[in-house]
Amino acid sequence: MATADVLKPDFASRRKHFIFTDDHEQLRESIRRFVIKELQPHAEEWEETTFPDWVFERMGELGFLGLDKPVEYGGQGGDYYTALVLAEELVHAHCGGLGMGVAVQTDMTIPPILKFGTEEQKQEWAVPAIGGTKILCLGITEPDAGSDVAGIKTRAVRDDSSGEYVINGSKTFITNGHRAHAIVLVTKTDPDAGYDGFTLFLVPMDSPGVIREKRLQKLGMHASDTALLAFQDVRVPDSAVLGHVGKGFYHIMWELQGERLIGAAGSVAGAQQVFDRTLEYAKERTAFGRPIGRFQAIRHKFAEMATKIETARQMVYTTAWRFQNGEYPVREITMAKLYSARIAVEVADECIQIHGGNGYMKEYGIERSWRDLRLNRIGAGSDEIMLEVIGRSYGL
Ligand SMILES: Cc1cc2nc3c(=O)[nH]c(=O)nc-3n(C[C@H](O)[C@H](O)[C@H](O)COP(=O)(O)OP(=O)(O)OC[C@H]3O[C@@H](n4cnc5c(N)ncnc54)[C@H](O)[C@@H]3O)c2cc1C
Repeated sequence: MATADVLKPDFASRRKHFIFTDDHEQLRESIRRFVIKELQPHAEEWEETTFPDWVFERMGELGFLGLDKPVEYGGQGGDYYTALVLAEELVHAHCGGLGMGVAVQTDMTIPPILKFGTEEQKQEWAVPAIGGTKILCLGITEPDAGSDVAGIKTRAVRDDSSGEYVINGSKTFITNGHRAHAIVLVTKTDPDAGYDGFTLFLVPMDSPGVIREKRLQKLGMHASDTALLAFQDVRVPDSAVLGHVGKGFYHIMWELQGERLIGAAGSVAGAQQVFDRTLEYAKERTAFGRPIGRFQAIRHKFAEMATKIETARQMVYTTAWRFQNGEYPVREITMAKLYSARIAVEVADECIQIHGGNGYMKEYGIERSWRDLRLNRIGAGSDEIMLEVIGRSYGL
């Protein structure tokens, strides 16, 4: 047999997925360089202080907040895959809360403004948000209604004498809530109209009656700020309505699809990052005279984790391809969100196990990855809600 006929597996070669071009890979390199040089060194400090607002300004300056946004609004005009690249590379900041705070801006608040907003709203909020000079937050969840979005109580009532809406209610767990300049706010405008009784508003956070009540303490994502907000007789003009009066429920359900897909990408990237760090550890740490990775029990853990991460990644990429090509693949987005969040938590948990006692120590950062990733099974719709969406999509 000729030597050329002996094909050997090349496990070390670099694999580029077919949705990405060389341009995406160059973008990946430049984001990673920025993240490692300018963000990662502050990871420990920001766990204590939350990450500073200059991160938005700097990322805006570099064009990273508008990678997939239209050029006419200050974006880079890239495809959806550029947003995936950003979400994936941000995990190298080792600061889950930062990735989340940025995603609220890039994938949760700017998109509904660009999709449903008036030209004035786009100029006033989307353009500076893409530029990093204004920060946005999203207000869906309330103390008495999270999964049950239709159960929210925040009311916006039209005062015909002044031509304004008067908003009363409260929102909780609001990421960026302390630092934001404006909130995309979900309200009920007609309690008797069912799903047709909701309206979104763009409310400046310095409006009289907006109260940033409390900075909430959390299990993980410590670098992000999480607020309890109150709205007491907050008056906004008609021009603050985002999208159509009465159609806010449908608008926010649309928004949630982008939020879930980017969340899924972040989960996969987070899982990969903790896997990579643990792999290094398993090659170095010895027990009973050999690296722990050489025990079959540990080797199989890596094999299981790698297979799950790769499966989740393929789901995310294929779903992103559908999204990029004009489909509205709600079922697949939901599956990708569910599966990626679950395996990310599983992987982080196994990585703690592989680290042994060190995995439990702050110094190694693995416990932080677990705490940060744990949110993904709750935020943007819990596992149970994802299962409901998938199950119901089959007419059940
Ligand atoms: C750190 C953090 C940041 C967040 N950021 C934001 C933000 O920026 N903006 C925002 O609006 N929200 C935000 N959230 C809120 C988040 O989206 C909600 O916590 C989530 O949707 C779950 O809602 P809930 O906490 O009210 O739980 P609940 O709805 O009270 O659910 C409690 C439990 O019951 C289960 N459950 C509920 N309904 C059903 C059902 N029909 N079938 C089966 N099980 C069910 C849930 O799955 C869960 O296990 C954030 C949350 C956290 C923790």
